[in-house]
Amino acid sequence: MRVKESLKHLQTHLPNSIFEEPLPAPLEKIQVVHSPRVIQAVQNESFIDMDTPGAPGIYQASLLSAGSAIQASREALLGVPVFSLMRPPGHHATPDQSMGFCYFNSMAVAVSDLIKSGRAKRVAIFDLDCHHGNGTEAFCLGKPEYLYVSLHQGSGYPGTGLVSKDNSINYPLPIGTKEGVYFPAMESAMEKIRHFQPDVIGVSMGFDTYEHDPLTEFGLKQADYLRMGKMLQSMNVPMFALLEGGYDKDLPILIEKFLTGWTS
Ligand SMILES: [Zn+2]
Repeated sequence: MRVKESLKHLQTHLPNSIFEEPLPAPLEKIQVVHSPRVIQAVQNESFIDMDTPGAPGIYQASLLSAGSAIQASREALLGVPVFSLMRPPGHHATPDQSMGFCYFNSMAVAVSDLIKSGRAKRVAIFDLDCHHGNGTEAFCLGKPEYLYVSLHQGSGYPGTGLVSKDNSINYPLPIGTKEGVYFPAMESAMEKIRHFQPDVIGVSMGFDTYEHDPLTEFGLKQADYLRMGKMLQSMNVPMFALLEGGYDKDLPILIEKFLTGWTS
């Protein structure tokens, strides 16, 4: 619902953007990331947990979401910033477990496709959702071609991301985080990403850091998403972004602000 409203809003407010329909991800690209058990549970639309209940059509929707991520990542390498406006999100899905509204990890599927197809040698993932992307972190750990960097509410779901380890850098931030705490942390994170010298950056873009988000306790305002977009744009590295969380009715406006800053 919020995605459909967002699409309508963006078509009205960003008329110069190009809107494309995604294709489903080929199963073999999902198999690179997820165990057969995970894939089978999503195919059967099985109940996984209270957050990830396996609704009718979820398998096809998850394939489309991952396919859109692949498309976005490939087009980003042509020098165009591409945003994937898709549900379900992916960053909590680990190689062995769907969870937290996430069935397949679209980011992991997209970045593994970039590496395996030889399109990129080094990929950074910048996770700006208010929750820690435990699934993406689990996928990246021990694989030096990836760097995972996350800013999130330290006390939130799923309880991971409290320390940095190996090629995963975590910024657990306090409840009530507003721009004065958020943006210095984001600058620091960007410095670590620059140091890694990625060929491409995949942004897990959650909008649940918003002050009115019902699931979290951060205090970012609408204008902060414009600033976030501008900061990312200033990195001057090919970049794509995938929609992760964002549960307030203002989501369409937040995405518009972010895209305006990112593409300015
Ligand atoms: Zn989230």
